Amino acid sequence: MSRLDSFIRRMTSQKILLEYLVDKVNLVEGPVLELGLGNGRTYDHLREIYPDKEIFVFDFAMNCHPSCAPDADHMILGDIRDTLAFCAPRVRAQASFAHIDIGSADPTNDLAIVNWLAPLIDERMAVGGFVLTALELDLPNFELLEKPEGIHPGRYHIYRKF
Ligand code: SAM
Repeated sequence: MSRLDSFIRRMTSQKILLEYLVDKVNLVEGPVLELGLGNGRTYDHLREIYPDKEIFVFDFAMNCHPSCAPDADHMILGDIRDTLAFCAPRVRAQASFAHIDIGSADPTNDLAIVNWLAPLIDERMAVGGFVLTALELDLPNFELLEKPEGIHPGRYHIYRKF
């Protein structure tokens, strides 16, 4: 498969999964967390599919397309390892949904990320809340959910806090 085909497949899966979770997430109280603004593609989509939810976005810097820049109250700048740990006074409620899009292309770096990220995510999520991520997280308080048909096995993971 060419890198173009692989990219298209990844983006298609991401969109299908984000939309698949909307009705379930809307049954849970709490804001949405977008970890990894990047150029703002998935944030822009989250805004569209969650018009009634507050969305807090995390990244080192705001480098997105100007049309999808979060406002200052909802853009949390800095290393997520620090900001996720200390965002409670700003985000207030625990989250109904976290979309995690901060993986690297390097498996060792990804292992380091999941090690610090999993306990922080556990702390920030509401009971019943959903996490969508390409990273495999060790989340003892969560169940791993089935994905809709057509999603490449192993590519994304959906966790739900119980
Ligand atoms: N979701 C984005 C989109 O659809 O455009 C793409 C996100 S991009 C793949 C990953 C982003 O995560 C980058 O902008 C990077 O700066 C950010 N990131 C990765 N690790 C981070 C960390 N530890 N703290 C803050 N931001 C981080």
